[in-house]
Amino acid sequence: MAATTSDIEKAAGVLRAGGLVALPTETVYGLGANAEDPRAVSRIFQVKGRPPSHPLIVHIAAADQLDDWVEGVPATARVLAERFWPGPLTLVLRRGRRVPLEATGGLETVAVRVPDHPAALALLSAFGGGVTAPSANRFGSVSPTTAEHVRAELGDAVDFVLDGGPCQVGVESTIVDVTGEVPSILRPGGVTREDLEAVLGHPVAVPSTSAVRVPGQHPSHYAPRARVVLVEPEKVVAEAELAQELGHRVGVFLPPSHADAPVKAHAVVPLPRAMDAYAQGLYGFLRELDQRGCDLIVASLPVEEGLGLAVANRLRRAAGPRPSA
Ligand code: AMP
Ligand code: MG
Repeated sequence: MAATTSDIEKAAGVLRAGGLVALPTETVYGLGANAEDPRAVSRIFQVKGRPPSHPLIVHIAAADQLDDWVEGVPATARVLAERFWPGPLTLVLRRGRRVPLEATGGLETVAVRVPDHPAALALLSAFGGGVTAPSANRFGSVSPTTAEHVRAELGDAVDFVLDGGPCQVGVESTIVDVTGEVPSILRPGGVTREDLEAVLGHPVAVPSTSAVRVPGQHPSHYAPRARVVLVEPEKVVAEAELAQELGHRVGVFLPPSHADAPVKAHAVVPLPRAMDAYAQGLYGFLRELDQRGCDLIVASLPVEEGLGLAVANRLRRAAGPRPSA
């Protein structure tokens, strides 16, 4: 669904008034506030139930605004911004004075990106400032990739939902820290490691844990209500059927290599063969299996190259240990 000019104007007005707008991006829907309004920014944390120490991403309309938000932009950041913006790449840089500490979780670094979505770009231009936005879901749960997901999850807690249709990439942005000597990936996402390495001309590390706080790297995150179990692709069907026999309501992420196998389970999601389609559908599939009443989801990890790295990262987090209730 295309957002109308009057939707954009309304959303910009809500931001100016210190309200919260759920906005579409190419990755997932964001829960946005005026980046320079500490009270509005604090409301994001309340609505999400997110600890205030976890930093947000500042969304801007164009790369030429980078210096407004960042102190001392290094040459590497300019090269990456030039090549990947608008797009699913977030750069972590030194915080400019304009960015309140509420938005950075108290850090002296700030995460910035230009989203590649016409409605998001129109909103950022109409509003004129920066918009801090994490994903528009409750802390730890599955990110929304449609406006319906946002309404179902946050309801009246958001002042306005800007509907821009389903997100095209479907997983969050790649976060690259460019504050050190060599850039490193803090979170794999929509821009692949291979694409980054091609532009930078050297290998880029993907640390499994990071010294900088990245909530996406919390043991359990991006998690549906159903427990997620990861097994080898050739064991998915047997594991699902066993759990179903034991009395679980099992949802299955059926790998394309087993697409023809009849599976005795509560619900089956045949996975798309193309990794971009898998990434785009991932969060919707998890939500669908929750909605269908599954208490267990059996899946396997894709090959961790290209977008498969981000999909595998989210599945691992979805399967991660849950805090005891
Ligand atoms: P979300 O969109 O919900 O995934 O949240 C924004 C993401 O950006 C989180 O994973 C944050 O940890 C990350 N982020 C924002 N600012 C920083 C920063 N200064 N350093 C490292 N990561 C950051
Ligand atoms: Mg999130």
